[in-house]
Amino acid sequence: MPKGLGQQADFLIRYGPGAIPVVIQGYLLTPRLPLGRPGQPLFGATTFRNGYRLRFNKMAIPSDRGFGEYTGMGAQHFDVVIVGAGLSGIGAAYHLQHRLPGKTYAILEARDAIGGTWDLFRYPGIRSDSDMHTLGYNFKPWPGAKSIADGPSIRDYVRDTAREYGIDKHIRFHHRVTGASWSSKDARWTITADHDGKPVAFTCSFIMMCSGYYRYEHGYTPDFPGRAQYKGEFIHPQLWPENLDYTGKQVVVIGSGATAVTIVPEMAKTAAHVTMLQRSPTYVVSRPSEDKIANRLKKFLPGKTAYGLTRWKNVALQMLFFNRARAQPDKVRGMLAHMAQKELGADYPVSTHFNPKYNPWDQRICLIPDSDLFNQLKSGRASIVTDTIDTFTEAGIKLSSGQELKADIVVSATGLDLQFLGGAEVKVDGEAIDLSKRLTYKGMMYEGVPNMVSIFGYTNASWTLKCDLTCEFTCRLIKRMDKTKTQAVTPKNLSSDIQTTPWLDFSSGYVQRGIGQFPKQGVTKPWKLNQNYALDLLSLRFGPVTDGVMEFSKPEAPARAA
Ligand SMILES: Cc1cc2nc3c(=O)[nH]c(=O)nc-3n(C[C@H](O)[C@H](O)[C@H](O)COP(=O)(O)OP(=O)(O)OC[C@H]3O[C@@H](n4cnc5c(N)ncnc54)[C@H](O)[C@@H]3O)c2cc1C
Repeated sequence: MPKGLGQQADFLIRYGPGAIPVVIQGYLLTPRLPLGRPGQPLFGATTFRNGYRLRFNKMAIPSDRGFGEYTGMGAQHFDVVIVGAGLSGIGAAYHLQHRLPGKTYAILEARDAIGGTWDLFRYPGIRSDSDMHTLGYNFKPWPGAKSIADGPSIRDYVRDTAREYGIDKHIRFHHRVTGASWSSKDARWTITADHDGKPVAFTCSFIMMCSGYYRYEHGYTPDFPGRAQYKGEFIHPQLWPENLDYTGKQVVVIGSGATAVTIVPEMAKTAAHVTMLQRSPTYVVSRPSEDKIANRLKKFLPGKTAYGLTRWKNVALQMLFFNRARAQPDKVRGMLAHMAQKELGADYPVSTHFNPKYNPWDQRICLIPDSDLFNQLKSGRASIVTDTIDTFTEAGIKLSSGQELKADIVVSATGLDLQFLGGAEVKVDGEAIDLSKRLTYKGMMYEGVPNMVSIFGYTNASWTLKCDLTCEFTCRLIKRMDKTKTQAVTPKNLSSDIQTTPWLDFSSGYVQRGIGQFPKQGVTKPWKLNQNYALDLLSLRFGPVTDGVMEFSKPEAPARAA
């Protein structure tokens, strides 16, 4: 079927003398609508299923994205609106059009690009820190030979997926969603968005929030004492300057998380020296960037089978390692220290630089490919200093120990600024909802909030594992609404004494700083977040969508006048 055929849309049509704009909602039936460039006048004829046969001599398409445009004469309606065109948003669109082919949808994306995280971050060496067989979608095998992949390859994979399945045609770029307001009477959401400074609105029956979990505008930078006097270049990895030349420069990278351990070995290739300055250490473990078993399986088995088997192998290994770390933290701590010592040599002070105070998996463990960080430490091109900052100086950083680090460039790899639902305000029947006071249902819906799902991946495994399952469950919910002729589905908390805990039990700084704005989880099902793929698989793919908590309903009929 040609793209666009059967799509329901509002078309802004200008015709006749004076080019009066009218909006016609209908189904596009003509395979070859003579579309041109945005704003370009068009000539031709088309027929709509609702009976309109239009011969028009001028048609303006104000945008080249999607099928139609909000015109100010009424909000365009979709069955589903997806917010965000990152890994999750593109995955959500695939599941939706694959499982519910009759549904109309649009993706509203604040930026001008597909890929989210994998388009935004441009620092040297940007890569995944989990394997691509589980960070890739369940429906599209990861094509690369490397299992720990670089950022641009991941961005290409997300873009290729969007293009291959025609998802890119549904994206409205430069649409930052600012609010979503549910009306129980109409059983629909009104979504407001900022489109290049202009407010626009859409309505939809269901929202999938795929807006990630952090603020895009900037990362987190602590208030470093004396920073104003520093004369060198100061950079946050989230806003990496294009064409930064660090060849032969003295670099200090502040931080010890996934970003720092990625940047340090990459910059050390050409910088004079790179110092990783950490307040406290992180667990670091090296894995080969290529998965030999996966690549061997690919040679003998069909692509999808090989991918599926590798995916399960990696899920099982991740779960095994995580559960072991939680059950026997001291043993795992010893094992990680031993592995680092073996890599760095007997004289290296592993207990100072790689032995955190917290237990393994109380924070994310940093994975490095092919020992790259260890190799640069051994070569002397990079080093680690575990100390605190006393003050910035004109030429670098003075530490509490009195040591001074000279730096032409300081990279503040100090983390993200968490943000829930892309900063959008949520209202239900006119009441602003403070989601931090609500419970999350299975880590994807919110107590008392109808027809809204948000995608939030695992912290102890790849994001996409949960993303795929959440999308599948959402499609099952929508199917059930269609079957039962209901229009709303709401997790209802009927108990007043559910014990709650924070959404995440991670001790990482960025989690602790921002977790207060996130909903809580309960300690029992279905309000508990599993952080466990096997349990979620049973619950979200095979478990019932009706569980006594999820309420399917119709809008109340208006009361008759007496
Ligand atoms: C540097 C880095 C490395 C990572 N590495 C891994 C890894 O190896 N493995 C892993 O599992 N996870 C990793 N993560 C987590 C990562 O974010 C997820 O893997 C995944 O990319 C999240 O995809 P997403 O689409 O849900 O969110 P994002 O990638 O954040 O995309 C969200 C999209 O929504 C858009 N958006 C946000 N707010 C709005 C709004 N209000 N209106 C409209 N659009 C909006 C954004 O512009 C963006 O395009 C990493 C994160 C970072 C920052």
